Amino acid sequence: MDQSLPDLELRRNNLFRQLEGLGDFRRGTISVNYRKCGKSNCACARKDHPGHGPQYLWNVSVGGKTQARNLPIGPELEKAEREVEAANPGLLRGSSLATK
Ligand SMILES: [Zn+2]
Repeated sequence: MDQSLPDLELRRNNLFRQLEGLGDFRRGTISVNYRKCGKSNCACARKDHPGHGPQYLWNVSVGGKTQARNLPIGPELEKAEREVEAANPGLLRGSSLATK
């Protein structure tokens, strides 16, 4: 990955904070996962490595049943980011997401 991870994490944290502020997105909880893949030659096998991630898991309770969805870095997150900006012009202003 060429993208700076701290930068992505910052953008994502800001994004989720904004998503949580919207009524439609308030249901459920988002948990963060770090995962070790178990390969001994992988970077994550080192003790000081937190594991692969973070992976965002979105747990939503629908009709008494809990559903979990992954929120990976990628098109889906980018799409959510665009939708937040389209629906709330100005919401992202002043945050690190406003790069203009
Ligand atoms: Zn690994």
